[in-house]
Amino acid sequence: MIDLRSDTLTQPTKKMREAIYNASVGDDVYGEDPTINRLEELTAEITGKEDALFVTSGTQGNQLAVLAQTSPGDEIIVEAESHIFFYEGGATSALAGVQPRVVQGIKGEMNPNTVKSAIRSDDIHFPDTSLICLENTHNRSGGSIVSLENMSAIYDIASNAGIPVHIDGARLFNAVVASKRDVKDFTQYCDSVQICLSKGLGSPVGSLLAGKKEVIQKARKWRKRLGGGMRQAGFLAASGIISITEMVDRLAEDHEKALKLADAIEEMDKLTLVNRPDTNIVIVNTEKTLQTNEEFLSNLKKEGLLAVSFGEGQIRFTTHYDVSAEDIELAISAIHRVI
Ligand SMILES: *Cc1c(COP(=O)(O)O)cnc(C)c1O
Repeated sequence: MIDLRSDTLTQPTKKMREAIYNASVGDDVYGEDPTINRLEELTAEITGKEDALFVTSGTQGNQLAVLAQTSPGDEIIVEAESHIFFYEGGATSALAGVQPRVVQGIKGEMNPNTVKSAIRSDDIHFPDTSLICLENTHNRSGGSIVSLENMSAIYDIASNAGIPVHIDGARLFNAVVASKRDVKDFTQYCDSVQICLSKGLGSPVGSLLAGKKEVIQKARKWRKRLGGGMRQAGFLAASGIISITEMVDRLAEDHEKALKLADAIEEMDKLTLVNRPDTNIVIVNTEKTLQTNEEFLSNLKKEGLLAVSFGEGQIRFTTHYDVSAEDIELAISAIHRVI
Protein backbone atom coordinates (compact mmCIF):
# COMPACT_ATOMS: atom_id res chain seq x y z
CA MET A 1 0.00 0.00 0.00
CA ILE A 2 1.31 3.46 -0.92
CA ASP A 3 0.21 5.82 1.82
CA LEU A 4 -0.10 9.48 0.80
CA ARG A 5 -2.66 10.36 3.48
CA SER A 6 -0.22 12.41 5.54
CA ASP A 7 3.43 13.08 6.32
CA THR A 8 2.62 12.17 9.94
CA LEU A 9 2.69 8.50 8.86
CA THR A 10 6.47 8.29 8.60
CA GLN A 11 8.15 5.53 10.56
CA PRO A 12 11.28 6.38 12.59
CA THR A 13 14.52 5.59 10.74
CA LYS A 14 17.02 3.00 11.92
CA LYS A 15 19.26 5.79 13.20
CA MET A 16 16.36 7.26 15.18
CA ARG A 17 15.56 3.89 16.72
CA GLU A 18 19.19 3.49 17.77
CA ALA A 19 19.30 7.01 19.22
CA ILE A 20 16.08 6.31 21.13
CA TYR A 21 17.55 3.07 22.49
CA ASN A 22 20.78 4.73 23.58
CA ALA A 23 19.38 8.05 24.88
CA SER A 24 20.50 9.43 28.25
CA VAL A 25 17.38 10.41 30.12
CA GLY A 26 16.24 12.01 33.37
CA ASP A 27 13.08 13.50 34.83
CA ASP A 28 12.16 16.37 32.53
CA VAL A 29 9.61 17.82 34.97
CA TYR A 30 12.64 18.37 37.23
CA GLY A 31 14.51 19.82 34.22
CA GLU A 32 16.93 16.88 34.44
CA ASP A 33 16.60 15.19 31.10
CA PRO A 34 19.87 15.93 29.26
CA THR A 35 18.51 14.93 25.86
CA ILE A 36 15.41 17.11 26.17
CA ASN A 37 17.61 19.98 27.38
CA ARG A 38 19.90 19.55 24.38
CA LEU A 39 16.96 19.50 21.94
CA GLU A 40 15.47 22.62 23.49
CA GLU A 41 18.83 24.45 23.34
CA LEU A 42 19.35 23.44 19.73
CA THR A 43 15.86 24.63 18.82
CA ALA A 44 16.34 27.99 20.50
CA GLU A 45 19.62 28.37 18.59
CA ILE A 46 18.18 27.36 15.19
CA THR A 47 15.13 29.62 15.53
CA GLY A 48 17.07 32.53 17.06
CA LYS A 49 14.84 32.58 20.15
CA GLU A 50 15.77 32.77 23.84
CA ASP A 51 14.28 29.44 24.86
CA ALA A 52 12.30 26.44 23.63
CA LEU A 53 10.01 23.74 25.00
CA PHE A 54 9.44 20.16 23.89
CA VAL A 55 5.68 19.49 23.70
CA THR A 56 3.50 16.48 22.98
CA SER A 57 2.05 17.64 19.66
CA GLY A 58 1.68 20.54 17.26
CA THR A 59 -1.74 21.29 18.66
CA GLN A 60 -0.34 21.47 22.19
CA GLY A 61 2.48 23.78 21.02
CA ASN A 62 0.03 26.15 19.33
CA GLN A 63 -2.35 26.16 22.28
CA LEU A 64 0.47 26.81 24.77
CA ALA A 65 1.51 29.78 22.63
CA VAL A 66 -2.03 31.14 22.88
CA LEU A 67 -2.33 30.38 26.61
CA ALA A 68 1.03 32.00 27.38
CA GLN A 69 0.37 35.20 25.43
CA THR A 70 -3.31 36.01 26.02
CA SER A 71 -5.90 36.42 28.78
CA PRO A 72 -9.50 35.18 28.82
CA GLY A 73 -11.78 37.60 26.94
CA ASP A 74 -9.06 38.67 24.51
CA GLU A 75 -9.31 38.34 20.76
CA ILE A 76 -6.71 36.67 18.54
CA ILE A 77 -6.40 37.17 14.79
CA VAL A 78 -6.31 33.89 12.84
CA GLU A 79 -6.50 33.00 9.17
CA ALA A 80 -9.83 31.43 8.14
CA GLU A 81 -8.32 28.15 6.94
CA SER A 82 -5.59 27.94 9.57
CA HIS A 83 -5.02 24.78 11.59
CA ILE A 84 -5.43 26.70 14.86
CA PHE A 85 -8.90 27.83 13.81
CA PHE A 86 -9.98 24.87 11.68
CA TYR A 87 -8.53 21.74 13.25
CA GLU A 88 -7.93 22.25 16.97
CA GLY A 89 -11.38 21.52 18.33
CA GLY A 90 -12.10 25.13 19.26
CA ALA A 91 -9.30 24.89 21.83
CA THR A 92 -8.44 28.60 21.77
CA SER A 93 -11.93 29.30 23.11
CA ALA A 94 -12.25 26.17 25.27
CA LEU A 95 -8.85 26.50 26.97
CA ALA A 96 -7.55 30.06 26.70
CA GLY A 97 -11.02 31.65 26.68
CA VAL A 98 -10.16 33.90 23.75
CA GLN A 99 -12.33 34.55 20.74
CA PRO A 100 -10.93 34.18 17.24
CA ARG A 101 -11.14 37.09 14.79
CA VAL A 102 -11.04 35.39 11.43
CA VAL A 103 -9.32 36.94 8.40
CA GLN A 104 -9.65 35.19 5.02
CA GLY A 105 -6.28 34.80 3.35
CA ILE A 106 -5.19 33.94 -0.18
CA LYS A 107 -3.00 30.83 -0.22
CA GLY A 108 -2.57 31.34 3.51
CA GLU A 109 -1.46 34.96 3.23
CA MET A 110 -3.60 37.50 5.05
CA ASN A 111 -3.65 40.99 3.58
CA PRO A 112 -1.59 43.14 6.01
CA ASN A 113 -4.09 46.01 5.72
CA THR A 114 -6.95 43.69 6.63
CA VAL A 115 -4.97 42.49 9.63
CA LYS A 116 -4.28 46.10 10.59
CA SER A 117 -7.96 47.00 10.51
CA ALA A 118 -8.87 43.84 12.46
CA ILE A 119 -6.75 45.01 15.41
CA ARG A 120 -9.10 46.44 18.04
CA SER A 121 -8.78 50.02 19.17
CA ASP A 122 -8.98 51.04 22.79
CA ASP A 123 -12.73 51.08 23.43
CA ILE A 124 -14.68 49.84 26.43
CA HIS A 125 -16.91 47.78 24.10
CA PHE A 126 -14.08 45.84 22.50
CA PRO A 127 -11.99 42.82 23.44
CA ASP A 128 -8.21 43.39 23.44
CA THR A 129 -6.36 41.96 20.44
CA SER A 130 -3.52 40.05 22.06
CA LEU A 131 -2.06 37.70 19.44
CA ILE A 132 -1.78 37.33 15.66
CA CYS A 133 -1.28 33.81 14.30
CA LEU A 134 0.37 32.94 10.99
CA GLU A 135 0.81 29.48 9.46
CA ASN A 136 3.78 28.51 7.31
CA THR A 137 3.60 26.37 5.23
CA HIS A 138 -0.16 26.69 5.01
CA ASN A 139 -1.72 23.23 5.16
CA ARG A 140 -5.20 23.84 3.72
CA SER A 141 -3.74 25.85 0.83
CA GLY A 142 -1.74 22.79 -0.16
CA GLY A 143 1.45 23.45 1.76
CA SER A 144 1.85 26.91 0.25
CA ILE A 145 4.68 29.14 1.43
CA VAL A 146 3.68 32.38 3.12
CA SER A 147 6.21 34.86 1.74
CA LEU A 148 8.77 36.67 3.87
CA GLU A 149 7.36 39.96 2.51
CA ASN A 150 3.88 39.09 3.81
CA MET A 151 5.24 37.96 7.17
CA SER A 152 7.41 41.03 7.52
CA ALA A 153 4.52 43.40 6.73
CA ILE A 154 2.23 41.74 9.29
CA TYR A 155 4.99 41.61 11.89
CA ASP A 156 5.66 45.34 11.47
CA ILE A 157 1.99 46.15 11.99
CA ALA A 158 1.81 43.83 15.01
CA SER A 159 4.98 45.24 16.58
CA ASN A 160 3.77 48.80 16.16
CA ALA A 161 0.57 47.82 17.95
CA GLY A 162 2.52 45.94 20.66
CA ILE A 163 0.92 42.61 19.71
CA PRO A 164 2.96 39.39 19.54
CA VAL A 165 2.95 37.15 16.45
CA HIS A 166 2.88 33.35 16.63
CA ILE A 167 3.85 31.12 13.70
CA ASP A 168 2.24 27.72 13.42
CA GLY A 169 5.31 26.30 11.73
CA ALA A 170 4.23 22.66 11.81
CA ARG A 171 5.93 22.51 8.38
CA LEU A 172 8.16 25.59 8.64
CA PHE A 173 11.19 23.57 7.59
CA ASN A 174 9.43 22.71 4.34
CA ALA A 175 9.15 26.45 3.65
CA VAL A 176 12.80 26.95 4.64
CA VAL A 177 14.10 24.22 2.34
CA ALA A 178 11.82 25.05 -0.62
CA SER A 179 12.78 28.73 -0.53
CA LYS A 180 16.47 27.99 0.18
CA ARG A 181 16.43 30.30 3.19
CA ASP A 182 17.54 30.09 6.79
CA VAL A 183 15.05 29.27 9.56
CA LYS A 184 15.80 32.66 11.12
CA ASP A 185 14.75 34.46 7.93
CA PHE A 186 11.24 33.32 8.85
CA THR A 187 11.37 33.30 12.65
CA GLN A 188 12.66 36.88 12.81
CA TYR A 189 9.05 37.83 12.09
CA CYS A 190 7.51 36.17 15.12
CA ASP A 191 7.55 36.12 18.90
CA SER A 192 6.77 32.41 19.17
CA VAL A 193 6.95 29.49 16.74
CA GLN A 194 5.76 25.90 16.82
CA ILE A 195 7.54 23.23 14.78
CA CYS A 196 6.41 19.59 14.30
CA LEU A 197 9.01 16.84 14.56
CA SER A 198 6.63 14.09 13.53
CA LYS A 199 5.71 15.20 10.03
CA GLY A 200 8.28 15.36 7.24
CA LEU A 201 11.06 15.39 9.82
CA GLY A 202 10.19 11.79 10.61
CA SER A 203 10.20 11.54 14.42
CA PRO A 204 7.54 9.39 16.08
CA VAL A 205 6.25 12.02 18.54
CA GLY A 206 6.59 15.66 19.49
CA SER A 207 6.76 19.32 18.59
CA LEU A 208 8.72 22.31 19.79
CA LEU A 209 7.66 25.75 20.88
CA ALA A 210 10.29 28.51 20.81
CA GLY A 211 10.10 32.10 22.00
CA LYS A 212 11.10 34.57 24.69
CA LYS A 213 12.17 33.15 28.07
CA GLU A 214 9.13 34.48 29.88
CA VAL A 215 6.74 33.10 27.25
CA ILE A 216 8.35 29.66 27.37
CA GLN A 217 8.28 29.76 31.19
CA LYS A 218 4.52 30.37 31.11
CA ALA A 219 4.08 27.71 28.42
CA ARG A 220 6.00 25.23 30.61
CA LYS A 221 3.57 25.83 33.44
CA TRP A 222 0.57 25.45 31.13
CA ARG A 223 2.04 22.27 29.68
CA LYS A 224 2.21 20.84 33.22
CA ARG A 225 -1.35 21.97 33.98
CA LEU A 226 -2.57 20.21 30.85
CA GLY A 227 -0.83 16.98 31.80
CA GLY A 228 1.95 17.36 29.24
CA GLY A 229 4.82 17.27 31.74
CA MET A 230 6.50 14.05 30.67
CA ARG A 231 9.26 12.36 32.64
CA GLN A 232 12.03 10.43 30.79
CA ALA A 233 10.89 11.96 27.51
CA GLY A 234 14.50 12.17 26.30
CA PHE A 235 13.76 8.97 24.37
CA LEU A 236 11.55 11.10 22.15
CA ALA A 237 13.95 14.05 22.11
CA ALA A 238 16.79 11.78 20.92
CA SER A 239 14.88 11.25 17.71
CA GLY A 240 13.91 14.93 17.60
CA ILE A 241 17.59 15.93 17.56
CA ILE A 242 18.12 13.76 14.48
CA SER A 243 15.03 15.34 12.90
CA ILE A 244 16.26 18.90 13.16
CA THR A 245 19.93 18.24 12.49
CA GLU A 246 19.80 15.54 9.78
CA MET A 247 16.31 15.32 8.27
CA VAL A 248 15.79 18.89 7.11
CA ASP A 249 17.64 18.99 3.77
CA ARG A 250 15.98 15.82 2.55
CA LEU A 251 12.57 17.54 2.61
CA ALA A 252 13.56 18.73 -0.88
CA GLU A 253 13.00 15.14 -2.06
CA ASP A 254 9.42 15.25 -0.77
CA HIS A 255 8.86 18.46 -2.71
CA GLU A 256 10.23 16.87 -5.91
CA LYS A 257 7.91 13.91 -5.45
CA ALA A 258 4.91 16.22 -4.98
CA LEU A 259 5.80 18.13 -8.15
CA LYS A 260 6.15 14.91 -10.11
CA LEU A 261 2.70 13.79 -8.93
CA ALA A 262 1.22 17.22 -9.68
CA ASP A 263 2.72 17.25 -13.20
CA ALA A 264 1.15 13.88 -13.96
CA ILE A 265 -2.23 14.90 -12.54
CA GLU A 266 -2.20 18.08 -14.58
CA GLU A 267 -2.18 15.91 -17.71
CA MET A 268 -5.29 13.98 -16.64
CA ASP A 269 -8.53 15.30 -18.21
CA LYS A 270 -10.80 14.40 -15.33
CA LEU A 271 -8.67 15.89 -12.58
CA THR A 272 -7.79 19.51 -11.85
CA LEU A 273 -4.92 20.60 -9.66
CA VAL A 274 -6.16 22.95 -6.95
CA ASN A 275 -2.60 24.02 -6.27
CA ARG A 276 0.79 23.71 -7.90
CA PRO A 277 2.69 22.48 -4.89
CA ASP A 278 5.25 24.80 -3.30
CA THR A 279 6.19 21.93 -0.97
CA ASN A 280 4.83 18.43 -0.23
CA ILE A 281 1.03 18.68 -0.48
CA VAL A 282 -1.05 18.21 -3.64
CA ILE A 283 -4.76 19.01 -3.60
CA VAL A 284 -6.81 17.74 -6.50
CA ASN A 285 -10.35 18.49 -7.64
CA THR A 286 -12.08 15.25 -8.65
CA GLU A 287 -15.56 16.56 -9.57
CA LYS A 288 -15.26 15.65 -13.26
CA THR A 289 -14.80 11.98 -12.38
CA LEU A 290 -18.42 12.03 -11.08
CA GLN A 291 -17.23 9.88 -8.16
CA THR A 292 -17.98 10.92 -4.58
CA ASN A 293 -14.92 11.30 -2.35
CA GLU A 294 -15.83 8.05 -0.66
CA GLU A 295 -15.99 6.21 -4.01
CA PHE A 296 -12.82 7.84 -5.31
CA LEU A 297 -10.85 7.01 -2.16
CA SER A 298 -12.13 3.45 -2.00
CA ASN A 299 -11.29 2.94 -5.69
CA LEU A 300 -7.79 4.29 -5.04
CA LYS A 301 -7.46 1.92 -2.11
CA LYS A 302 -8.34 -1.05 -4.32
CA GLU A 303 -5.44 0.05 -6.53
CA GLY A 304 -3.09 0.17 -3.54
CA LEU A 305 -3.09 3.91 -2.89
CA LEU A 306 -4.32 5.86 0.15
CA ALA A 307 -5.21 9.58 0.20
CA VAL A 308 -7.59 11.75 2.25
CA SER A 309 -10.74 13.74 1.59
CA PHE A 310 -10.20 17.49 1.68
CA GLY A 311 -13.78 18.73 1.36
CA GLU A 312 -16.29 17.21 -1.11
CA GLY A 313 -14.79 16.94 -4.58
CA GLN A 314 -11.25 17.46 -3.30
CA ILE A 315 -8.59 14.94 -2.37
CA ARG A 316 -5.25 15.58 -0.68
CA PHE A 317 -2.02 13.70 -1.40
CA THR A 318 0.97 14.32 0.88
CA THR A 319 4.47 13.10 0.05
CA HIS A 320 6.94 12.06 2.73
CA TYR A 321 10.05 10.07 3.63
CA ASP A 322 8.41 6.66 3.39
CA VAL A 323 7.30 6.98 -0.25
CA SER A 324 9.95 6.56 -2.92
CA ALA A 325 10.11 8.11 -6.38
CA GLU A 326 9.11 4.67 -7.65
CA ASP A 327 6.04 4.68 -5.39
CA ILE A 328 5.01 7.97 -6.98
CA GLU A 329 5.13 6.31 -10.43
CA LEU A 330 2.93 3.52 -9.08
CA ALA A 331 0.59 6.09 -7.49
CA ILE A 332 0.25 7.85 -10.84
CA SER A 333 -0.74 4.61 -12.60
CA ALA A 334 -3.20 3.83 -9.80
CA ILE A 335 -4.85 7.24 -10.25
CA HIS A 336 -5.01 6.66 -14.02
CA ARG A 337 -6.86 3.40 -13.50
CA VAL A 338 -9.34 4.96 -11.08
CA ILE A 339 -10.35 7.81 -13.38
C1 LIG B 1 -0.30 18.87 11.75
C2 LIG B 1 -0.45 20.29 12.01
C3 LIG B 1 -0.53 20.80 13.32
C4 LIG B 1 -0.61 19.99 14.58
O1 LIG B 1 -0.33 18.72 14.57
P1 LIG B 1 -0.55 17.62 15.71
O2 LIG B 1 -1.29 16.57 14.98
O3 LIG B 1 -1.30 18.21 16.82
O4 LIG B 1 0.83 17.25 16.07
C5 LIG B 1 -0.59 22.16 13.48
N1 LIG B 1 -0.58 22.97 12.43
C6 LIG B 1 -0.51 22.54 11.17
C7 LIG B 1 -0.47 23.53 10.06
C8 LIG B 1 -0.47 21.18 10.91
O5 LIG B 1 -0.42 20.75 9.64
